[in-house]
Amino acid sequence: MKKILIIIALLLLIGCEAGTPTAEVPADPPEAETPDFEQSVEEEAEAEEEPTEEDIVASIDLTLGPNELGEIMILMYHGIGPEESVWQRTPDNFRKDLEYMYQNGYRMISLNDYAKGEISTEAGYTPIILTFDDGRQNNFNLIEKDGEMVLDPDCAIGILEEFKEKYPDFNVTASFFLGTNPFGQIEYAEEKLTWLIDNGYDLGNHTYSHEKMEKLNSEQIQIEIGSVNNIIKEYLPDYAVETLALPHGSNPKNEYIEFMIEGEYEGNKYETIAVLDVGWRPAYSPFDILTNFYSLYRVTASEINVDNCGINDYFKQYEENKRERFISDGNPDVVTIPKRHMEYLNMDMVGDRIVNIYE
Ligand SMILES: [Zn+2]
Repeated sequence: MKKILIIIALLLLIGCEAGTPTAEVPADPPEAETPDFEQSVEEEAEAEEEPTEEDIVASIDLTLGPNELGEIMILMYHGIGPEESVWQRTPDNFRKDLEYMYQNGYRMISLNDYAKGEISTEAGYTPIILTFDDGRQNNFNLIEKDGEMVLDPDCAIGILEEFKEKYPDFNVTASFFLGTNPFGQIEYAEEKLTWLIDNGYDLGNHTYSHEKMEKLNSEQIQIEIGSVNNIIKEYLPDYAVETLALPHGSNPKNEYIEFMIEGEYEGNKYETIAVLDVGWRPAYSPFDILTNFYSLYRVTASEINVDNCGINDYFKQYEENKRERFISDGNPDVVTIPKRHMEYLNMDMVGDRIVNIYE
């Protein structure tokens, strides 16, 4: 009987937490903190026999060559449209990219998870991140069909959803970096933004006027970032925009960088956990001391005019083992690395995770 009561109490407690609107509101503690309850929870935990650190490490399959200090590509897309250019990929080429990624051991993760080091990619696979700048209509387009508005199958979301259905274990997701007019079709803006969040995509900030940040002062930077966040907040009051793609890859002057990371505009505060440069090269692992989350490298996802540093150049270099890609150990609570990379491990980022080093 006592056990049943404990389970009910636990369920109630969990239920309460899930219903709390923000994580910052402290949970109401009273009955839950009686000594009797605490002790019983301990007994329960013991009864379940939690695996020890050794058990967890032993369960990592080293034959898959896990390397959680390998590189992760943050792909930079802009438009999806009829002509291939530096700033646009054709629907067929985008499908070709996705097919290649899936067949060659890449699985998607969100930029937000990368920035938090929360990588739950299946063991033996490489995380990859998709980003789209400018919030173009061809990223998320609705078209009329038989008197109804439906998803354009050749827009970015149309194609991503096609692959989500085709390969459920691809973990399809992407971040869309928006300015003032998210995806055109203003009458559907709320519907589109809500749909994206409900379907596992993320929204990022691409600033109000697409100005070079290097030209702006602290006040202007806060207007540029804060006003876009506020526009998104009008549609999605509970969604916090935490990522920023720098227009033209232009960083603020050193003395103003702090306003890119934290600021306030019209009473709303913002905090940025990841800032993206323009396309150049793959990013380092989030656990690598070389990673600067406020200046993350990206790879241009197109084939034209990118000086041998476009998406296909890097895919090829990984195939030829000229670079090392991140290979997941399958456990987000463990960071598994080959010994030769040890000196690059950022212990602040590792935090409470278990470090697993092997020869
Ligand atoms: Zn842009």
